[in-house]
Amino acid sequence: MSSSQSRTNAIHTITNRAPKVVISPEPLSKIWACDVFNLAAMEESLSKSAFKAMKKTMQTGAELDPINAEVVAAAMKEWALSKGVKFFSHIFYPMTNATAEKHDGFIITNPDGNAITDFSASLLIKGEPDGSSFPNGSLRATNSARGYTAWDPTSPAYVMHTANGATLMIPSVFLSWTGESLDKKIPLLRSNAAMNAAGNKVLSLMGETDIAPLNSSCGAEQEYFLIDAAFAAARPDLLQCGRSLFGAPSPKGQQFDDHYFAAIPERVQIFMQDFEDKLYKLGIPAKAHHNEVAPGQFEIAPYFEAANVAADHQQLLMTVMKNTAHAHDFLCLLHEKPFAGVNGSGKHVNWSVGNSTQGNMLDPGSTPEENLNFLLFCGAVIRGVHLYGPLLRAVIASASNDHRLGANEAPPAILSVYLGEQLEKVFKDIQAGEFPRTEKGGFMEMGLSQLLKFERDPGDRNRTSPFAFTGNRFEFRAVGSSQSVSGPLVAMNTMLADSLIWLSEQLEAELTSGKDKSAAVMSVLKIVMDKHGNVVFGGNGYSPEWHRMAVEERGLKNLPTSAEALPELIAPEVVSLFERMGVLTSVELHSRFEVYSEQYVRSIELEAKLMLEIATTLIYPAAISYLSGLSGTYAQLSSLKIKLDTSVADAVAKEADALMNAVGTLKTVSAKHDFDSVQAHMKYLAYDVCGAMNTLRNHADTLESLIADDLWPLPKYREMLFIK
Ligand code: ADP
Ligand code: MG
Repeated sequence: MSSSQSRTNAIHTITNRAPKVVISPEPLSKIWACDVFNLAAMEESLSKSAFKAMKKTMQTGAELDPINAEVVAAAMKEWALSKGVKFFSHIFYPMTNATAEKHDGFIITNPDGNAITDFSASLLIKGEPDGSSFPNGSLRATNSARGYTAWDPTSPAYVMHTANGATLMIPSVFLSWTGESLDKKIPLLRSNAAMNAAGNKVLSLMGETDIAPLNSSCGAEQEYFLIDAAFAAARPDLLQCGRSLFGAPSPKGQQFDDHYFAAIPERVQIFMQDFEDKLYKLGIPAKAHHNEVAPGQFEIAPYFEAANVAADHQQLLMTVMKNTAHAHDFLCLLHEKPFAGVNGSGKHVNWSVGNSTQGNMLDPGSTPEENLNFLLFCGAVIRGVHLYGPLLRAVIASASNDHRLGANEAPPAILSVYLGEQLEKVFKDIQAGEFPRTEKGGFMEMGLSQLLKFERDPGDRNRTSPFAFTGNRFEFRAVGSSQSVSGPLVAMNTMLADSLIWLSEQLEAELTSGKDKSAAVMSVLKIVMDKHGNVVFGGNGYSPEWHRMAVEERGLKNLPTSAEALPELIAPEVVSLFERMGVLTSVELHSRFEVYSEQYVRSIELEAKLMLEIATTLIYPAAISYLSGLSGTYAQLSSLKIKLDTSVADAVAKEADALMNAVGTLKTVSAKHDFDSVQAHMKYLAYDVCGAMNTLRNHADTLESLIADDLWPLPKYREMLFIK
């Protein structure tokens, strides 16, 4: 079969697909969290005292004592066995964006030859996957490769079913034998603790006496593409790199804006429902789904949850989504830019912090006290983004997200904060010293009536901002669709913790000087705005004018690629921040920098390699076949004394030559391997190698528009994005 045949066969297969046979849907009440060992399941199986201890641990992060851990382990085992489980696994989140698991059987045999099941607290609590193959950024020499997984009781265990079995999955942390974090969960837990301690200080100074532990929350909107599996099978680039390395634009793209919120194609709707029922069984609250802007692009947004659980659920969601898509003959693409020329995919991380006594600290609230607390926390965020914008840029840096950030439809690579018109005005007024002031008929002595009038306005949006206030939370919009939410959450919690500590020091000084609460808050927020107000920006983040102004006038950093962004992870002020907040040590940060840089290097090297292969073995041969056909036709026609214009053949020949020249250049450029530092290597890849890749792609895409359709080997954009 010639390669162009596989493309036509794919179209044939897709257009003849029989509708999927689906099981009839079950009511939510029946399936909700039915595979989760959550508090409801525990209440049924634990002793009262064990349940109480476990509930406290899950809701406040309090430590669980060994006796109760033993009780929980026994109950968890019984619960899992009743669901047909034979294996269990600690599930953990290494420094890559991956999810990792190592399965162990419950089985042991006794001397009589009977199989019995065993699962003690020690097995529940600690696992020892070899783990030597996980990237660890020099944290472990291979001869001391041991890594430990340890149960995280604050994230519920669950059962994963396949057609013929089930496994108990236990959310866990992953650490080295020397105690360093090798994963994304430990820093998230630590960052939350740091934020809680700092927030508590501020609230105490504000006169709050009953303060429950503060927790961060996360609701992640996940964008993705669905491509028919038959097309994907004929696209080595989609299969291996998750994005199309070649492909001429489709005449119809997204210019009509007719995909966003349009009726969902039935086949996709069936997939979504199947997928969401699976999420419900796992206790993941799928809440919204719709078509996205690009053809073939969709979104799912679960309801927000405590950050640690939300992060675990996000990872699980991506796994379930890919598997379910596969079962429906789709390839689910989580890459940030699978198709050039149409929108890429992001993962908007909605983030807030709060507790059960004061509520959501990023909600303006309805009393002057609530308003003051809200303004303090908002001010802390503004300061954090200003001081640590480059860190926020670094935690979302990847080879794939580089294609999206700064491109036309995605937030820029410059970190600024969008507050919305009303809130921006409140902060500008504070900066101008307009608060407190007494208003005639004002509500409060301190003139806080203005603040009370502040109403959240969720309709007020700025799509061009990477970091936007949206009424009762901040939305970090620049996060990439394939990324774990943990990195961004860790960075946000940590910068907030730092700012809250700073705020509490300022506040304390103001209060000791005799000012009352609201006057003290206003003074502190004025300092915040004077020092950090430059990061507040409500205009068009896509405009070249902003890019110039941000850098030249406001002193913000523009870090266009991961090569510039990743080194910010080990900038002295960032290392100091993480060490002071007790979230990551310098060694742990350096290991992360090493792992992410390595991933960046490998991603680009893989793409270059695959481009060379596809150009040489698929695209060039198609050009030659076409030329050979044309030249035969020209010869035959000339024997009939008919002369055909040869400009097409000329153009194809010229482009085919240019293509092979570009192949040669990319080969040469990619052969360089002696670099002084990984920073230098990344820069070289970002500019020289990616530059050579772009040139090669341009020639291939031009050939696609010249060569006879029946000879073109790769499924085209107009097919992949539109045929379902
Ligand atoms: P939109 O597209 O308008 O931004 P979506 O409904 O698609 O809204 O997604 C908003 C996300 O923000 C949801 O996951 C939602 O649960 C989450 N969210 C809402 N309130 C909060 C909050 N206080 N903290 C964190 N996330 C929140
Ligand atoms: Mg949305």
